[in-house]
Amino acid sequence: MTIHSTRMLIIGSGPAGLSAAIYGARAGLEPIVVQGLQPGGQLTITTDVENYPGFRDVIQGPWLMQEMQAQAEHVGTRMMWDTITRVELDGPPFRAIGDGGDIYEGETLVIATGAQAKWLGVPGEQDLGGKGVSACATCDGFFYRGKKVVVIGGGNTAVEEALYLTNHSDDVTLIHRRDSLRAEKILQDRLFANPKISVLWNKAVDRFLGEPFQGGLTGVALTDTVTGQTSEIAADGAFVAIGHAPATELFKDSLELDDSGYIVVQPGTPKTAIEGVFACGDVMDHTYRQAVTAAGTGCMAALDAERFIAQREFALKQALVAG
Ligand code: FAD
Ligand code: NAP
Repeated sequence: MTIHSTRMLIIGSGPAGLSAAIYGARAGLEPIVVQGLQPGGQLTITTDVENYPGFRDVIQGPWLMQEMQAQAEHVGTRMMWDTITRVELDGPPFRAIGDGGDIYEGETLVIATGAQAKWLGVPGEQDLGGKGVSACATCDGFFYRGKKVVVIGGGNTAVEEALYLTNHSDDVTLIHRRDSLRAEKILQDRLFANPKISVLWNKAVDRFLGEPFQGGLTGVALTDTVTGQTSEIAADGAFVAIGHAPATELFKDSLELDDSGYIVVQPGTPKTAIEGVFACGDVMDHTYRQAVTAAGTGCMAALDAERFIAQREFALKQALVAG
């Protein structure tokens, strides 16, 4: 068992964690990033990224994350190949305990553990991921310009994704397993008023159809949840929008989480209720969930951590002077 100490401990190595690391390292805080089971985060499981600023041409998600990590290391970040299994937030120092028993101690703690899209778990979903099946219309909708797309789900996310997709497609079908939506009424009103969107009620997805290496998704096989009748719908793109699960299990006893499990922060900041503990990226953001917003809030977390350290040092010096 080894104890690793730093002025800025970061849990998570997606865009939020690595951006915090870049800023923290350049401020001389010698950050440690504990990478977790998905080094580089969610973008490592996608291919084309076309909306991250700075790149005229389409770039690849894994490449972007390698570059971010290289930049973080170049300015002085220590990357740790470990997964945190327990935290003690009664600091500073704040402690995080790794899988193998190593202890990470930070004068500040930046939580950037992200969120994962929920999947249906039906045949074809995994194989056709990135080849017609997606969980992010903002990210991938553009690739279905003029094509036929379906969205699965009945909550706010599904309705917003369906509405967003009408920017690219005139043929959007929302598939929902019940006969009423969970989404807010104002969104439902917009959905029903949009002539580009139709709704298939009481339909459960059985499997996604198509060959990953021969044209990708071709359609979706469905079962009617009331009659049991089976059917198929043709589609070039399918967007699974049944919710996201933020990675906050570690923090449920020490930090406030909202109804959907996201870490609650002070509005417009990455500050949690515990001074010196910050949350950034998808783990605290169920609205935007983009690489650039994650990177932006990662930067904010590092700047706030730096200020927290400076103020703490000043207060400690004042206390010493006062005797
Ligand atoms: P994540 O990227 O989710 O990273 C979380 C990190 O936390 C991971 O490194 C993980 O290993 C680590 N972690 C979790 N638990 C622990 C633990 N216990 N101990 C240690 N580490 C832990 N956004 C765009 O802007 N453009 C796109 O084109 C785009 N395409 C996407 C395509 C797909 C398929 C997906 C799934 C998402 C896409 N997104 C896109 C969204 C984007 O990837 C996310 O918004 C972004 O990655 C969030 O960054 P994050 O740093 O908050 O979290
Ligand atoms: P959600 O509200 O939990 O809705 C998930 C939807 O997916 C539900 O309609 C659910 O069906 C369906 N679903 C779940 N599992 C399924 C499965 N296995 N097969 C088929 N369908 C399945 O999730 P969300 O829409 O992502 O929203 C999450 C939270 O974020 C909510 O609090 C929401 O209000 C908030 N949010 C807000 C905004 C906004 O304010 N603009 C935007 C997005 C999200 P049932 O209805 O049958 O359960």
